[in-house]
Amino acid sequence: EARSAGGNQYCFDTPAMNAAVVQRQALEQALRGALERGEFVLHYQPRVSLQDGAIVGLEVLLRWQHPELGLVPPMEFIPLAEETGLIVPVGEWVIGAACRQIRRWRDCGLAVPPVAINLSARQFRSGGLDRTIADALAAEGLDGAQLELEITESTAMTDVGEAVAAMQKLKALGISLALDDFGTGYSSLAYLRRFPIDYLKIDRAFVRDVVTEPGDAAICIATIRLAHSLRLKVIAEGVENEAQMEYLRRQGCDEIQGYHFSPPLEGEALAAMLGEGTRMALPAPAEDAPPP
Ligand code: C2E
Ligand code: MG
Ligand code: MG
Ligand code: MG
Repeated sequence: EARSAGGNQYCFDTPAMNAAVVQRQALEQALRGALERGEFVLHYQPRVSLQDGAIVGLEVLLRWQHPELGLVPPMEFIPLAEETGLIVPVGEWVIGAACRQIRRWRDCGLAVPPVAINLSARQFRSGGLDRTIADALAAEGLDGAQLELEITESTAMTDVGEAVAAMQKLKALGISLALDDFGTGYSSLAYLRRFPIDYLKIDRAFVRDVVTEPGDAAICIATIRLAHSLRLKVIAEGVENEAQMEYLRRQGCDEIQGYHFSPPLEGEALAAMLGEGTRMALPAPAEDAPPP
């Protein structure tokens, strides 16, 4: 428990709390230099169509290769980057690096599906994001159709008018938009209708036990129906096995992403997959099943 001791000073009740503060400061310090030291790397996770198993998109996932801490996952530094404002330059680097990677893949003759970049709340609200993205695309000779942007449901639902305006500017560049982590925020259905979006991404929290938990299944099914009635496509994230995949497919989910098909991969491994035309195997539809 942190108690304000007046001004900007805080005192902490336990040595563990002090250690946490020191660790946080050390992390912030390290994060400030990470960009210049070239410690950020991008991984790419393919997502596949449940119609034919083809790769229909790639999600860019940021990692921090720290010399002592090793590969730091985004949940351990993005909240801090968001708080300190470092997310804006880091986010710009992600956009530029993703566009350069797309260019290199295309120069190798690969057909690159749309590449989805996650936006933080602060980045999404920062004026000039559309300009930054347009410049990054132009620098590599790419058009907006090559990109998708993922905005979390909670980010979109904070100041809806402003969010709609920001989304419209991005859509004007020809970029598709996805509402990420759907189901974990506080969506108002009336607002959902106003967003110029293309996809809902069902959060993996609902996918994990979709086969065994009726409550989670109900949320997945309702989201799929809702999306389709709004003419949006649905992506389920965190699909780890065939049972989940089959369940979602029978419910009409359009696309899946998760360890069942592939974890996030380094650029080279992903390029190999694209080059080989790798697909997800889909079991034969039920009506084609041999009689018992
Ligand atoms: P997200 O956008 O919802 O991304 C999906 C997360 O689920 C990723 O975690 C991915 O590695 C993980 N995942 C994928 N398939 C499976 C699976 O089958 N099982 C399980 N258990 N997990 C799976 P990751 O890479 O740790 O990223 C976490 C979050 O960090 C992302 O959630 C996103 O919100 C944020 N993030 C990642 N990269 C960026 C970035 O460049 N900018 C911003 N602002 N946020 C980012
Ligand atoms: Mg995402
Ligand atoms: Mg997500
Ligand atoms: Mg998620």
